Amino acid sequence: MGQLPIVAIVGRPNVGKSTLFNRITHSRRSIVGNEPGITRDRIYAEAEWLGKRFELVDTGGMLVGESAEIPAKIVAQARQALDQAALVILVVDGRSELTAPDIELAGLLRRTGKPLVLAVNKIETDAALVSATESYRLGIDRVIPVSAEHGRGVDDLLDCVTALIPEAAETAPAATASEIAVAIIGRPNVGKSTLLNQLTGDERAIVSETPGTTRDAVDTVVERDGAVYRLVDTAGIRRKGKTKLMAEKLSVVMARRHIRLSDIALLLIDATEGLTAPDATIGGYAHEAGKSVIVLVNKWDSVKDRRAASEELRNQAARRLKFLDYAPVLFISAKSGLGMSRVFPEIRKIAQARQRHIPTAELNRFLHSVDLERASTPASRKKKIYYMTQAASAPPRFILFTDKPGPLHFSFERYLVNQLRRKF
Ligand code: GDP
Ligand code: GDP
Repeated sequence: MGQLPIVAIVGRPNVGKSTLFNRITHSRRSIVGNEPGITRDRIYAEAEWLGKRFELVDTGGMLVGESAEIPAKIVAQARQALDQAALVILVVDGRSELTAPDIELAGLLRRTGKPLVLAVNKIETDAALVSATESYRLGIDRVIPVSAEHGRGVDDLLDCVTALIPEAAETAPAATASEIAVAIIGRPNVGKSTLLNQLTGDERAIVSETPGTTRDAVDTVVERDGAVYRLVDTAGIRRKGKTKLMAEKLSVVMARRHIRLSDIALLLIDATEGLTAPDATIGGYAHEAGKSVIVLVNKWDSVKDRRAASEELRNQAARRLKFLDYAPVLFISAKSGLGMSRVFPEIRKIAQARQRHIPTAELNRFLHSVDLERASTPASRKKKIYYMTQAASAPPRFILFTDKPGPLHFSFERYLVNQLRRKF
């Protein structure tokens, strides 16, 4: 149990901490153990959301009497839980004005350096959402309006929380935070192993070849300009000697596995063959898995009329790879080295963009500036978006608060995503 990330609920008395704690733990039927608290019978409980487990702590239960009213005392008495916490949920009462203690408490919590999520509680109606807007004054980017009593918004809160906390130790990903995990994907013979050789070419660049997460996988770790890249399962790239059909099928299976283990996928395309349907299939997996994709048009050295070829590729991409139209495209020759100097810097740039967190205030300025009327969505399927906040990065995930429940119409979503990409 000590391995589970701890999520601490903090707030002034009567904001609804205990109700929220009960809502998250009881309603999920996922409690496996609990411990008696000091003033409440239970202040710790294990919880689970979409397969991710964590330990929830109601710090309100640690405080007695007057000290529960004074921010510095709240933080001091909850210190132990706060020190261990992977994330802190600050609860405020959305039905009343923010109080000086709320603001002071938010300041103290910000100073802990822990990821913070603000739960604006007691928001039962859409009209009450307006008061959630006011809570930006607390300087916490992630604001989720909830009603602990009625359950409203609690799913969003849990989405946000679980996206931010680490996995329980046994399922930790292979790459450490400072490494950029890169997959080289593509059909047989597009040049994957040649590219691998170019990327690692200089023997001294290879830091280590370490076993990957699956037993027969071998990753190559490369250091360039101070950044560490983990090229996932490079043993698979060299797997040869299959029939053409087998190799084609295998390339798709391998791509799916490599994509899963990576942050960034280098989608290799053979310029002499153009963009084929299998290329698009493989690219589609990476896109759907939420990975960042860089398209590398390889064998550019063999192309005679480069202008015509790039024109042709652009047309093919518009048809087959439309969903990846945001992905950068580099023209390279893995064999001759042409264009290769741009590859690592591009990976690094994309890895940084992937980590980006856009402050809520900026997102809401964006929402005001974007003309949602222009989306080619049937009027009846459009929604009013009250505001939005970024719940997670790598890949970025956003939570939208709308007037009607249910998912966005696909064309409306696409319009919004495109505008977001353009702006940020
Ligand atoms: P705590 O002292 O911060 O733990 O707050 P409690 O969980 O004990 O709640 C304080 C009061 O607020 C109780 O009367 C709850 O019924 C009420 N409360 C909690 N959550 C909500 C909510 O979502 N909506 C409304 N209207 N009342 C709530
Ligand atoms: P893989 O099956 O994707 O790993 O592809 P390989 O790296 O084995 O390359 C397949 C063939 O394409 C080999 O004959 C390579 O020499 C050739 N090749 C790879 N990259 C280039 C390139 O940039 N230019 C040219 N002209 N040939 C290349």
